[in-house]
Amino acid sequence: MPLPQIPLLNVRAQTASIRAEIDQAIARVLDHGQFILGPEVRQLEERIAEYCGTKFAIACASGTDAILLPLMALNIGPGDRVVVPPFTFFATAGCVSRLGATPVFVDIEYGTFNLDPVLLGRYLESLPPADLATVKAIIPVHLFGQCADMPAINEIAGRFSIPVIEDAAQAIGSEFSGARAGSMGWCGTLSFFPSKNLGGIGDGGMVTTNDPSLDARLRLLRVHGSGATYFHDEVGTNSRLDTLQAAVLLAKLPHLEGWAVRRQENAAAYRDAFSRLLPEGALTAPIALPDATHVYNQFTIRVRQRDEVRRRLAEMNVASAVYYPLPLHQQKCFEPLGYRAGDFPVTETAANEVLSLPIDPELGPDSIETVVERLAVVLQSLA
Ligand SMILES: *Cc1c(COP(=O)(O)O)cnc(C)c1O
Repeated sequence: MPLPQIPLLNVRAQTASIRAEIDQAIARVLDHGQFILGPEVRQLEERIAEYCGTKFAIACASGTDAILLPLMALNIGPGDRVVVPPFTFFATAGCVSRLGATPVFVDIEYGTFNLDPVLLGRYLESLPPADLATVKAIIPVHLFGQCADMPAINEIAGRFSIPVIEDAAQAIGSEFSGARAGSMGWCGTLSFFPSKNLGGIGDGGMVTTNDPSLDARLRLLRVHGSGATYFHDEVGTNSRLDTLQAAVLLAKLPHLEGWAVRRQENAAAYRDAFSRLLPEGALTAPIALPDATHVYNQFTIRVRQRDEVRRRLAEMNVASAVYYPLPLHQQKCFEPLGYRAGDFPVTETAANEVLSLPIDPELGPDSIETVVERLAVVLQSLA
């Protein structure tokens, strides 16, 4: 008999658990027929702003656009630099390039996988004044569900008067020193991609901010720069969140807190099982900072012979994933930027060692125990 399959993600089970609420939300949108910027969009913006602890939230078409639009609001273009970590999902740097500006990479911390404030400070201090003037934004990423060290990053950014855009796509609800992801920088960006902690039934995104002028500007940019219909003050784009997505997300939002707790319980179950079932030093568990609340969009370990471990786990019907196998400075499309292997050693080591294990809230501690039992077999076979 095959071993029971343990998936990385179980969107169907999550949908099933609240199916009636989702069906009703969809039916209401079908009935009122305001498919573009209907009432649910504004309601969701208000709820998300409240949840993240910001004055404003502006919905858009994806987490990618949530990064792109504030960069557009800064009028970023050719000749400008934007600091990003090289260890993140592609969108963080891709948005910078799409506007003709240059992503500049600064390495991450070994423990948290997040932008290293010390290296950020060192990089900015090393720039001649003319180059420093071209650095128009810093985008720390709250990778895997834990906030980057925002107090330290804000201190450095403030010293150089550079706006900070928090890429909080993976970290809705996580906190650093009591402040929520998305509320600490000039603005924060969220994704509602189905695998995120708050996932829609398709694409979606949101920008959070306390800046009223950014709020107003983003509301224009997402509708082709048009205040009054067919009158365009500037060139924007079409980037709205569908009313249907907003309605589904409104139905899901009240459950988000409970899902985060389940993720945290799963993480605790992993740590407990590691200590019981694995030899000391078999792998490195993710670090949860005392100052931060980790919401575990991913539970990402470091392990030797990572690819082999992943292959053998798959043979034992345990899904896992590598976020991310190739650092951004080594991507083909960024070759013209002139970076080389060895430029960001912490990132490059992470890319070789990371493995994300199943932590979906639909999985209970029993499944986690099973994952670690099978992982123990795999590690033993490789020892
Ligand atoms: C998912 C993600 C994005 C982009 O979100 P989409 O909604 O897929 O466009 C951006 N940054 C990070 C770190 C992400 O994980």
